[in-house]
Amino acid sequence: MIRFDNIKVVFDDVTAISELDLDVSEGEFFTLLGPSGCGKTTALRTLSGLVSPTSGDIYIDGRAVTTLPSDKRGVGMVFQNYALFPSMSVRENIAFGLKVRRTSADERRTLVTDIARRVDLSDDQLDKNVADLSGGQQQRVAIARALVLKPKILLLDEPLSNLDAKLRQQLRVELKDLQVQSGITTVYVTHDQDEALTMSDRIAVFNRGRVEQIGTPQEIYEKSATEFVCTFIGDSTKLGPELVSRLTDHSPSRLDPSRLSYLRVEKVLLEDRAGAPTGAQQRDPAGSTVSLEGRIVARSYHGQHSRYTVRSHDSDVKVLVKEIGASTLDIGHPVHLRVDPAHVLQYQATA
Ligand code: ADP
Ligand code: MG
Repeated sequence: MIRFDNIKVVFDDVTAISELDLDVSEGEFFTLLGPSGCGKTTALRTLSGLVSPTSGDIYIDGRAVTTLPSDKRGVGMVFQNYALFPSMSVRENIAFGLKVRRTSADERRTLVTDIARRVDLSDDQLDKNVADLSGGQQQRVAIARALVLKPKILLLDEPLSNLDAKLRQQLRVELKDLQVQSGITTVYVTHDQDEALTMSDRIAVFNRGRVEQIGTPQEIYEKSATEFVCTFIGDSTKLGPELVSRLTDHSPSRLDPSRLSYLRVEKVLLEDRAGAPTGAQQRDPAGSTVSLEGRIVARSYHGQHSRYTVRSHDSDVKVLVKEIGASTLDIGHPVHLRVDPAHVLQYQATA
């Protein structure tokens, strides 16, 4: 449905995208994820026709659209700052593109009312000035304005990042539902890994104008292909060579102490001195785990869980524990860590 074919974008002396090859399938919710400044917006603007690539081609439905103007590409775009017309009403904002297309006033009215309902804007909000709406409602107007033109592709640039945490959670679910119901092919840009993991069919992780990995949320998380992906997504500990050696004693073929090694916080089991799991942790019966001695050096309480830092050999290993009742593990307490070496992610050190 969408193809980025060897796209490169250079602004003056800044290379925003160095080489991008990407395929998005029909009906897919595809996310470009990465830190600020890595080229996500530029990729989206290149797809929509607002930026011309320095080299390479964009295909939509098998057709090269690289030189096609934005309004001929069948894409609807929602900008990070919404880019609404501040002096116009909600209705006028949503109807703007229809007016440009010379849709009749009657039809405009029907289409605007229909789309407003789909994004949960009530009828009585339609004649308000957009400047009088809350951030969440403005977001709905921006999405309605894009969808009313019935694009084949919806592009969303950090649509939730200006909203507060609770509303962000709610709109995340609504937006995903809207996408699933309409089946519209969606390219979504975010720097928020949680958003990406929960909403996407597939994710491309960007770093400095390049894609580091493309995969399903589970692939990206469980099998992070590069050190950057592993550290950008999720929460993990970097393991020192000595600790890796200890793990290797019991798993000779797999772990290489000279490689960069990471362990996800939730893959570690914390046991007391007697070997009993702490909190609500379940010991994995299938895993062939290794027990490591350690001592608690830090602890923080987060309500649903506590986070511990355990010094073991040359590493400070972070562990997440679901607390049941009061914790008996204080700083200085000797403990054991139980680790399955198969869960250690390893990468080649780059020069
Ligand atoms: P992101 O959306 O991931 O934060 P951008 O695509 O906005 O990243 O920017 C990528 C890089 O390209 C940044 O270094 C940014 O400063 C630069 N850049 C983006 N747009 C322009 C532009 N119109 N002119 C010059 N530099 C730009
Ligand atoms: Mg951006």
